[in-house]
Amino acid sequence: MGRKFFVGGNWKCNGTNEEVKKIISTLNAGDVPSQDVVEVVVSPPFVFLPLTKGSLRPDFHVAAQNCWVKKGGAYTGEISAEMLVNLDIPWVILGHSERRLILGESNEFVGDKVAYALSRGLKVIACVGETLEQRESGSTLEVVAAQTKAIADRVSDWTNVVVAYEPVWAIGTGKVATPAQAQEVHAELRKWLHANISPEVAASTRIIYGGSVNGANCKELAAQADVDGFLVGGASLKPEFIDIIKSAE
Ligand code: PGA
Repeated sequence: MGRKFFVGGNWKCNGTNEEVKKIISTLNAGDVPSQDVVEVVVSPPFVFLPLTKGSLRPDFHVAAQNCWVKKGGAYTGEISAEMLVNLDIPWVILGHSERRLILGESNEFVGDKVAYALSRGLKVIACVGETLEQRESGSTLEVVAAQTKAIADRVSDWTNVVVAYEPVWAIGTGKVATPAQAQEVHAELRKWLHANISPEVAASTRIIYGGSVNGANCKELAAQADVDGFLVGGASLKPEFIDIIKSAE
């Protein structure tokens, strides 16, 4: 089953109104492969979602960077899945390591969020990945399997899930995983999906890589059999994001 290449841009907590407009105009002018070849999703901070949604080219889509774990209500500071649906925002990033590690989101909490967002009709970029300490102690596969299992325990339909493998030691560090390191974990994740969910889900679910992806290293990573795209942080704020989208070809 063909897995369409997926490139996500995670702008994190960056940008002013003016900077966001500039990024959008650069994206809008970019010459990229068609939607049949690559799915492009950019994820601005919440406050810039309407601006981005309203001015971004129609072949690129928009994601929120988080949403609440259940129906909205008395949860000061949170944004609900219902609100994203109301604004016609199709995607949400959940379980990013910055939220897991800095804000203490557990595997179970992330699993609950993924299940709730899917139940509201959102599509989810679900992030998994090990810390340097975990990699060095040899527990990478165990860690990403446990993070994936917490999602699998709560989700039966994987059609609207993209899994982002983002080793924490590679995020924002300039220390990108080698193509072989990325391929190894992606292949193991796919094997896990095959054994624990189904061969169909394993074959059709996109597993994208994130962590210091840039215009120079994306081609070689994209050539790996189990790398179905990227989640890009720092470089998604720069014109080279267009080059990363082009690595789909
Ligand atoms: P980076 O971030 O590309 O800046 O390393 C990736 C991410 O956190 O999604």
